[in-house]
Amino acid sequence: MKTLRLKGLILGVALLMFSCQTAEEDNLDTQKESSIVNVTNHNGQPFSTGQSTSISKAFTPGPGGGVMMQAFYWDVPSGGTWWNTVKSKVTAWSNAGIDAVWLPPVSKAQNGPFSMGYDPTDYFDFGNFNQNGTIETRFGSKTELQSLISTAHSQNVKVFADIVLNHNSGAQLESNQYTGTNTWTDFSGVASGKFLRSQHDFHPNNIHNNDSGFFGGFPDMCHEVPNVQDWLWNRSDGVGKYYKNVMGFDGWRFDYVKGFAPWVVNTWNTKVGGFSVGEYWDSNVNTLEWWANNANSTVFDFACYYKMNDAFDGNNLNILNDDMMWKRNPYKAVTFVANHDTDIIWKKMLAYAYILTHEGYPTIFYRDYEEWLNKERMNNLIWIHNNKATGNTSILFTDTDEYIARRNGYNGNPGLIVYLNNSSSWKERWVPTNWYGTPIKDFTGHSGWYPTTQSGGWVKIQCPPNSYSVWSVN
Ligand code: ZN
Ligand code: ZN
Ligand code: ZN
Repeated sequence: MKTLRLKGLILGVALLMFSCQTAEEDNLDTQKESSIVNVTNHNGQPFSTGQSTSISKAFTPGPGGGVMMQAFYWDVPSGGTWWNTVKSKVTAWSNAGIDAVWLPPVSKAQNGPFSMGYDPTDYFDFGNFNQNGTIETRFGSKTELQSLISTAHSQNVKVFADIVLNHNSGAQLESNQYTGTNTWTDFSGVASGKFLRSQHDFHPNNIHNNDSGFFGGFPDMCHEVPNVQDWLWNRSDGVGKYYKNVMGFDGWRFDYVKGFAPWVVNTWNTKVGGFSVGEYWDSNVNTLEWWANNANSTVFDFACYYKMNDAFDGNNLNILNDDMMWKRNPYKAVTFVANHDTDIIWKKMLAYAYILTHEGYPTIFYRDYEEWLNKERMNNLIWIHNNKATGNTSILFTDTDEYIARRNGYNGNPGLIVYLNNSSSWKERWVPTNWYGTPIKDFTGHSGWYPTTQSGGWVKIQCPPNSYSVWSVN
């Protein structure tokens, strides 16, 4: 390291005597310069996690926007304790730079005390009616949920509800005129007495036979029926407006949006408002972009997810040059490394270093943060995201085991350079920065170098084996 710093000093002196630069360095610079790929071309404005509603103005995301916590995993402990568990952690999360939590579906579902909520019966039973074999949901009571939400708000953390609109479950059997059979579509007896449904509200019905997808044989809701539209987004005491204005939710994660047309979420967002992200489980970027535009919503970047898996676990970081949703539209991409349904990436710290330094709205999976990864390292990356990950993106270098990208900064914020190393040895490279004659450092602390960029912006940075470094103005 000592000799390297000495070399930097010599280069600095060489730069002062401009004409002394060697031909070899010239070639290197020229070669690198031509390999810069500008991935995004917007004005650099930070990603915003909210629309311009009054409530989102209460939250001030840092220069890089916020970071979302997925505050559950599949089969969290049952027994009605989960809301209290989340509540006990939300202040620490806020202090770490988390600006929103995504909760599992909050209403009573068919499997009662054991359900993760994705088989909804009664959208207005938050654990306060004796129904489906229990009063409390798997996660707790309505009072505990409300207490969690108000604690989160007191810590400037937004709360996103998981909204299941494709299907319902837990009805009574009725004779169905459209199928000529008996179907489990009679929701006329739900305990809350709100949003009563019957065979006419599901497919097939007198409007049509189906929409774009059924899920697991559950009754498939038809969003063209006036009763459904009234109760989802029109009525002030309907699901959307009640969740937002009475329960205090700030946004929505829409489940299985492949199962119905994008105008449904679009209409909800127009009528109800709030942050919105859709689970369109598909790696096709064209499809993700089509859905996000037509739903007027952000979308989980499944393209990025699978490309990260191929790149990091498949040992070819060139794949990170491929198309992803955040490259198409960083303001409509929600990036993630794992969730309650899928968890295939092994080299998770590289993946988190990627999403927390790149564009899009990054999500952290509860178990990764609380159980599996090094929390101090995660908090460092969240800090870097919130304080340095600004501006549009240029890829500076890739090969099979190295990846270097630059966030170009915004409005006086210097941005950063992230170096990912998927090999078992230290790496170092000369890179072109936007900083001229400026001391920089690795904000992860993985490298002890404190180089000063040349007058032309070039600097040599390093990265430890199987790890990452993130450089910015000291
Ligand atoms: Zn329909
Ligand atoms: Zn459907
Ligand atoms: Zn390499």
